[in-house]
Amino acid sequence: MHTDLQEILLTEEQIHQRVQEMGRQITKDYAGKTILMCGILKGAVTFFTDLARTIDCPVLFDFMSCSSYGTSAQSSGFVKIRKDLDSEVKGKDILIVEDIIDTGITLNKLRPLLEDRGANSVRLATLLSKPERRKVDVQVDYNGFEIPDAFVVGYGLDYAGRYRNLPYIGILKKEVYAK
Ligand code: 5GP
Repeated sequence: MHTDLQEILLTEEQIHQRVQEMGRQITKDYAGKTILMCGILKGAVTFFTDLARTIDCPVLFDFMSCSSYGTSAQSSGFVKIRKDLDSEVKGKDILIVEDIIDTGITLNKLRPLLEDRGANSVRLATLLSKPERRKVDVQVDYNGFEIPDAFVVGYGLDYAGRYRNLPYIGILKKEVYAK
């Protein structure tokens, strides 16, 4: 285990098993369709590439990057798109792929935005969800794991750009971000 971690929350094996299950479910649900997988940079990249390889139907890749701004006094938040999709969304079956749903603000804004562009369908797959932290409602179609309210890193998730390459997910020691 990395010395900056308090504990490992999800092992490589647990993640692998769950991602396989999610892929099987998605394959069933999208039978006969082509999925436009929209990964949210950068945290979802590891999950995205593993998930894509478990899906047995035609898949197209695209990516977007956003940042959310919100204060405790302003629960609705504001989401800025830093990099938009390259693809035309109209008529497509979109699967948004996210690393973690926390307050829900990002996805609460993103999903209607893609629906408004005329997508045939928009669904959401997230590896992690922290239900205790939710401020706004988000419909999650495929959820890997519900986790407690703790700051996690690894398997794509970072703190200050670090730890993305860890093959497991762990809780970061508080002293690391209090430094
Ligand atoms: P929200 O659901 O609050 O709009 O934001 C979700 C985003 O917050 C995620 O995509 C991720 O970038 C960040 N985030 C939330 N919780 C965590 C966490 O425990 N660890 C890391 N590394 N990022 C998190």
